[in-house]
Parts: sequence; structure tokens; C-alpha cells
Amino acid sequence: MINTSYKAMLGGKSVIRQLSEYATARKAQVGADHVYDFSLGNPSVPTAPEFTEAMLDLYAHDDPVALHGYSPSLGITQVREAVAASLNQRFGMNYTYEHIFMTSGAAGALSHALRAVTKPGDEVVTFAPYFPEYHPYVEGTGAILRVVEPGEHFQINFDALERTLNPNVTAVLINTPNNPSGVVYSDATLTKLAAILSAKQTEYGHDIFLISDEPYREIVFDGQNQPYPSKYYANTLSCYSFSKSLSLPGERIGYVAAHPQCTDALLIAPICGQISRGTGHNCPPSSIQLGVARVLDKTSDLRVYETNMNLLYDALTDIGFSVERPGGTFYIFPKALEADANAFCMKAKDYDLILVPSDSFGCPGYFRMAYCTTTELVERTIPVLRKFAHEQYG
Ligand code: PLP
Repeated sequence: MINTSYKAMLGGKSVIRQLSEYATARKAQVGADHVYDFSLGNPSVPTAPEFTEAMLDLYAHDDPVALHGYSPSLGITQVREAVAASLNQRFGMNYTYEHIFMTSGAAGALSHALRAVTKPGDEVVTFAPYFPEYHPYVEGTGAILRVVEPGEHFQINFDALERTLNPNVTAVLINTPNNPSGVVYSDATLTKLAAILSAKQTEYGHDIFLISDEPYREIVFDGQNQPYPSKYYANTLSCYSFSKSLSLPGERIGYVAAHPQCTDALLIAPICGQISRGTGHNCPPSSIQLGVARVLDKTSDLRVYETNMNLLYDALTDIGFSVERPGGTFYIFPKALEADANAFCMKAKDYDLILVPSDSFGCPGYFRMAYCTTTELVERTIPVLRKFAHEQYG
């Protein structure tokens, strides 16, 4: 008989994917220019030219048998070494290749990191608003996802966190810069979070791992930097992806970096390798690992995201939306103009505005716009947003 838990998941397909599919169908009907599609977080800028050059060079000059050969199950050693060296140089860490596990994007990194430090029945705490895929990542391990309500400016609500923590919690999952709010956790937030988790580890007598989801680490505005969460708390597993910074979401490449001072630091990557055996993950492609290893300190030209954010933030505020100014990512998360964000986004569809209602982010009453689009689309969208808001909500 077919697996009933996965069958049940068919009814709960991603709202974001469904909206994106709707937008694609609608574009075929009325023409792409007439649909204002802000549904999907698919980068709109090409990868860095240095990545393309690296791949061309690998294909032209490397031994094809080695280039397309099996990767060691934890990742190619020289790639892991290069990742460790780059993180050490940027963040003053002391990783070696033994702390790095190469994965299929952040999804692969999170699924492995969560399995490495939780067992069925454990609780994993995360903070609203959160990436909806945290449900399958966490629940796939047999653990239970507990959600903490948002704090002011979408920073952490520490009172709510303290109410949620209990001895069953073995991991806390953060995402900064955040999808969907665009908010960057401040130094003060990360410092306080680390202090609370350290105290709770002592109180409960067991580890609480911080799983830090960092695909937007490089997409930060106003010349700021995202503080590196591992600097604050030793029991941190950083989960990174090249999907957004290098515009490589289809190549499926990322890594887990286990803090060198975390509990069993040298076991995390090997344990992830054992997890892969059961899931059939078996590492990202060898050639792509070698390609990114040559361009670890490069990104795509990410400037369009900040341009789009400023345009949208100013326009939304001017129209009368209540909205937090994003510090990074390519998302913005305004309050809907009625309590029911689903109803709001349904009405927006009549204007061919494709906005994602916030319920699946664990934070009802808001909507997300993914502005990884051309600036020209953002500029054409603003009058449509204005018309929609005025006609529907006065
Ligand atoms: N985490 C967050 C917050 C994301 O936004 C995404 C993708 O959009 C992922 C994880 C998964 O990233 P990847 O495509 O690298 O698996």
C-alpha cells in the first residue's frame, strides 16, 4: 500500500508553488507583461561570470573521468577545505575541512543538520514568520516544529521563546536575513539568543543546537553585513546555499558547517554522510562542487534587489501599507489591508497581482512579495498596487 503520510502531504502542496504555477498559466493567457508575478524566490540575475568561466575551464581542461566521477560522500576534500578557508577568512572562524559537509542547497543542508542533532519526538523551535518548508524538513525527521510568535520589527520575541523552550527542545532553527520578512537579526538579538540557549542547555543538562539557515547571507542592504550566528554560540550548524548569492538554485549546491567547538564537532559531517545513505542524497554533482570552490568569495551582481526593495518600500509606505523595511533578501512582507490575507491576495489576483498570503509563513494577516524581478516590472507594478488598494480598500 502507498505511504499514507506522504499521501496526506499531497493535500498540503506549497502555496507559493501553486501561485507561481497559476501565474505561469495566466501569462500564457494574457501575456507575460500583464501579470505582476511576485510569487517565487527564483533569482532574476545571472550567475557571476567567474562561475561560468570556472565551469568552462573545468570542462575544457579537467580529466572527464575525475570531473564526472563519484564525489566522496561528505564532499570533495579540496572543496571542503576551500569552504573552511573562506569562512575562516571572512568570519574569523577556525573550521577545517572536517567540519564541512557538502549538500544539495540549503534544503539538503537543513534536512541533514536537523537529522544529525534531533531524534523522533524531540522539539525544534523556530520563529514566525518562517519558510514554510521548515515543516517537511523538521517533521521528516520525526521531530515536532514549535513556532514562536514574532517580536517587534520581526526580531525575536524572547518572552515567547522562554515560554516555548522546554526539556524536549534539542534544536532552534533561525533564518537571517529572513524569508519572508527581509529582516536581519541584529547583534543584540543574536547575543541574547545565545545567552538564553546557553542557560537552557545548563538547566536541561543537554545540548540545544542552533541550526542557522543562511541562503541570504550575502544579500544585505545599506552596506551592512549579516552578523555570523556561529560567532555567538558554539553549538551552531550553519546551513548555506549558493542558490541565491550565486543565482544557482537549479544546480543544488550548499553545505553544512559545524562550529569547531560544538559538541561532537568532528562527528557532524560523518553523521550527515550516514544520513545521506538512507535518503539517497549522495552529494551535489562533483563538477558543481569544483566550480563553486573557485568562486567562494564572488556573488552575482545583486544590486537590483536593493534597488527594487527601495522602490517597493517607498511605494508601499506611500500607498498606506504598514511594512518593515527589509535589511536583506529579496522579499518584503507588508501587512494586508484586511485581516484575512488569503482574501486580500485573492482580490489582488483580479488585478493580476500575484502576492503570497502569509498564513503558511505562520504569521496571518500579511503578504509576501518576492522582488527578484526586473526593476522595470517593479515600476510597472506600483500603479497597479495603488489602484488595487484604492479601489478595494478606499
Ligand atoms: N531556506 C530558506 C529561508 C529559503 O528561502 C530557501 C529557498 O528559497 C531554502 C531554505 C532552500 O534553499 P535551496 O534552494 O538552496 O535548497
